[in-house]
Parts: sequence; C-alpha cells; structure tokens
Amino acid sequence: MKTKFIFITGGVLSSLGKGLAAATIGALLKARGLKVTIQKLDPYINVDPGTMNPFQHGEVYVTEDGAETDLDLGHYERYLGVPMSQLNNFTSGRIYHSVITKERRGDYLGGTVQVIPHVTDEIKQAVLSVAKNDEDVALIEIGGTVGDIEGLPFLEAIRQLKKDLGKENVLYIHLTLVPFMRTSGELKTKPTQHSVKELRSIGIQPDIILCRSEIELDAELKSKIALFCDVEQDAVFTAVDVKNIYEVPLKYYQEGVDQKIAILMRLPAKNANIKPWMELVHRLNNPTGSVRIGIVGKYVDLKESYKSLHEALVHGGGANGVSVELAYLNSEEINRKNLEENCKGLDGVLVPGGFGARGIPGKILAIKYARENKIPFFGICLGMQCAVIEFTRHVAGLEDADSQEFNPKTANPVIYLMKEWYDYRRGCTERRDEASDLGGTMRLGAYPCKLREETKAFDAYREELIQERHRHRFEFNMEYADLLTSKGLLLSGVSPDETLVEIVELPEHPWFLGCQFHPEFQSNPMAPHPLFREFIAAAKAYKAGR
Ligand code: GLN
Repeated sequence: MKTKFIFITGGVLSSLGKGLAAATIGALLKARGLKVTIQKLDPYINVDPGTMNPFQHGEVYVTEDGAETDLDLGHYERYLGVPMSQLNNFTSGRIYHSVITKERRGDYLGGTVQVIPHVTDEIKQAVLSVAKNDEDVALIEIGGTVGDIEGLPFLEAIRQLKKDLGKENVLYIHLTLVPFMRTSGELKTKPTQHSVKELRSIGIQPDIILCRSEIELDAELKSKIALFCDVEQDAVFTAVDVKNIYEVPLKYYQEGVDQKIAILMRLPAKNANIKPWMELVHRLNNPTGSVRIGIVGKYVDLKESYKSLHEALVHGGGANGVSVELAYLNSEEINRKNLEENCKGLDGVLVPGGFGARGIPGKILAIKYARENKIPFFGICLGMQCAVIEFTRHVAGLEDADSQEFNPKTANPVIYLMKEWYDYRRGCTERRDEASDLGGTMRLGAYPCKLREETKAFDAYREELIQERHRHRFEFNMEYADLLTSKGLLLSGVSPDETLVEIVELPEHPWFLGCQFHPEFQSNPMAPHPLFREFIAAAKAYKAGR
C-alpha cells in the first residue's frame, strides 16, 4: 500500500498539545496494526533548535542519528516506540538553507527562485522523505498556529499535496480550543469557527476537528461545529484535558478518533489493541507510595526545558509503583546556609544537563550533600561532570579542579575539551570550526558504551554494550582516571576504545551514578529506562529507611 498522509494543524492559540495529539493518533493507528511514522514541520528560521534557549523553546530532543530536534519528537518516540531521525523534523530554516544552497550551486539554471514553487517543492520533498519504509501512514504536524505568516509556505505545500497524492491518500486534522466561559457556564465555538475559516481561506478544508476543551462537548455543540466548519457530524471530537498525558490515547479511542480516520482514509486497520495503554494508565494512576526528587538545575522555571527528563522520572515511578513528586530547586539560589533546608525531605537528588557556569556552585553543594548523606544521586551529562568535579575537589583533594567550560584556565581540568575533537562515529577526522558555526559542534547522537560487570550500571542494564544519546562538548579527562579511581570513583561505563568515560559511580554509596549521556531520551512509558528505574528504586528504599 502507498503511504497515506495525515496533516495536523493547530488553531486559536499555541500550546494546545498538537504534538501530543499527533503522537496519540500515531499510537492508536499503531495499536490497529498499522506501520506509522510522524514528522514535525517547524515554521521558525533556525536551521534546527540546537542553538535555541530552552527557556524559550523547551528541551532540545536528540535523536539516535544526532539531530537536535523539537521536543515533540520526544512525544513521538515515547508514544510510538520507534526511533526518530533527521527526517522527522524540518524547520523553515533548514528548507531555506537547502533552497539557497541549490541556488548558489546553480541548480535552478538561472530561474527566479520563489516561495512557490521552489520553497514549497522543497517542503513537499521533505514531507515525502519521511515515508521511505513502506509506512501505511505518515502523520505530519505543522508547528505554530494557522494564521501565522511564517507557516504559510508549509500550509501551501500540504494543500498542494492533496492534488499530488490523490484525495483518498490525504487527510487534514485541525486542533482548536473550545474555551469554557465560567461566568456563563458555556463552551464557546466561535474561535474554532474563525480558525477553520482562516484555514479554508488558504484552501484547506479540514476533515476532522479536534476540540481541546476542559469539559466534553455534547452532541449539539459538535453538530454546530460540524455545520459551521463543513465537516461530517461524527468528525468533531473532544480532546478533553486529562491529568496524566498517557490517558490521551484512551480518551481519543473512546471518542472514536482512530476509527473515523480509518474509515475516512480506508485504512486496512484491525481492532485497536489498547490494553497496554489501559494497563499503563492504571499503573500510573494507582501508585502505592511516592518519592520526592529534587531537580537541581538552571532552567527550573520552565518545565518544558526538562520534558523528557520529567517523563523518564514518571516512567521510573511507574516501574516501582510509586508516584514521583518533583521539587525543582534553582541552583543559583542554593548556598551553604540554605542547603540543608533545600534538601530536606528529598529521597533523591538529580542534577540534569545544562550549559554554562551559572549556578554551578549550588549544584556542587547539592551533590556533596547527597554524597555525604547517602541520598541517591543521579547526575546527567553536566550533572555527571559536576559530580566528578565535586569528587576531585573534596575526596581527591584537588581544590581547584574544574571544567574548562566554567574556568578555562583551571590548573586541574578534570572535565575538558578534547583538543582534537572529532566525530568517532562517522570516522570524520576534520576539525570543525566552532567559531563560525555553532550548529553541530557537539558530540551528538547515539554512541556505544561498554559496561563493567558488578557495577550499578551493569545491574541496571544487564547488558555489556549499550547505546546512549549524547549532546555535549566537554569530556571526562582521562589523565585523572588513576587518581580518581584510587580514591574510590568507579568508571563503570567507557567507550569501546576506552578513551571516553561514559558512566561513573561510587560503590560505597547506596546509589550515586553519573552518566555523560542523556538516558531520558530513550525512556519509554512501556519500557522505563533502566537507570531511571533503578534511581527511583533507590529513592524508594532510601525513603523506607529514613
Ligand atoms: N555543558 C556540558 C558540555 O557541553 C554538558 C552538556 C549537557 O549537559 N548536555 O559538555
């Protein structure tokens, strides 16, 4: 069967959860035995979100092949359980970059290069490129809100695709907001009507309307929307607010969204097997206890900047039958005086990834506290680097140990920038010019890591060789390996050639582990990541013994 395309647009306002809607539809179609892929098209001009501040844009999600992508791809992987790649996220910047490169190369043979057809053709190619593996369905989520100037070329491209692919192979879904007016106690459909009008003015007639709402829409309201927006009566659905995002697939299923899609697109769909989702939700909604985890970081104000981390902790909680309460602690505000108070009541301390020198002293203080008081500790990327610095300073006695990132002149760069940075995986030996291009200068994507037996890391994974995803410039400095191991630091995971340290731990501590990679990107609600599972298990044990 030829791949069929479902395009998902959003209206009224941003942050309606279009990514989750797309991921959910993908999960349900997969539960019906179909092979599904998802792609996100982002209208902004950045070539990828790698250079964007997580405060503004949320987390940068890293794929196996090293693409720095939109956080929605994290939802896609978690809901679909299939790895995403470069092909699953395109921005306007990337599209234009490619068009301009072709223009400079003379590929357009002297023609005038225009938005239509050159940019739109490039977008169409990007869309079609995602379905290379005989997928039954490709879901394409268009970022932004209908009516945004930047989004127009994308909307024009997906409008054209209906003609190109045949109408039986294309479906348009529009997600809107139906606000509940507390004063009058009513749901309001006008914003939806306007949004659909806007969409139709550019030539796209939605087939399905998903109405994000606080409460369920009744039949009367649905038929009103159907009438005004010219969709079938049974093609208007409530996307009701839920307290746990993993309930969304169950809600959509109850509404019949996947069934309607299957009918409209004539998909060879089986009955949906949603049992795993029911069990998951049951498990997450019925914990037998809770643990409190302190997240000591810089981007604590915007939870979106730790999206995958948050989800991985939820998965770890689910695996242990507990709910995970998160205490976000701003590392810039932690000092010697308030340390104890900040750490009071925590069953685990986690220092996540990050960049720059701000807030490092607070992180080091929190790590020291967790190490000395035997509170479970999990350091991720920057968190691992800080744990190594803390250990070098306070256990190995090198008071001025630091990372070259925070102090380029330190006499003891226990975390350093490898002089000849090169890409191991691709075997590329040419040095990249970091000053001229900030994109892709990091160790990015999946790298293998060899685990040492009889370590906490090995106990968690039960495998000798693992693959984990990276996004960092600095590394553990092997010159300090002998000193640190002689003082009790265990290097439990290293690169297969033993030049890079990937995991460190303290055997004398109940659970103290730091990893140079980002395990949160690979955690899945159906298969919680082993390190998160074990970290939460340690926090649970700590709480029981407290
Ligand atoms: N800033 C550190 C580095 O570049 C850590 C990065 C991270 O935590 N993702 O190496």
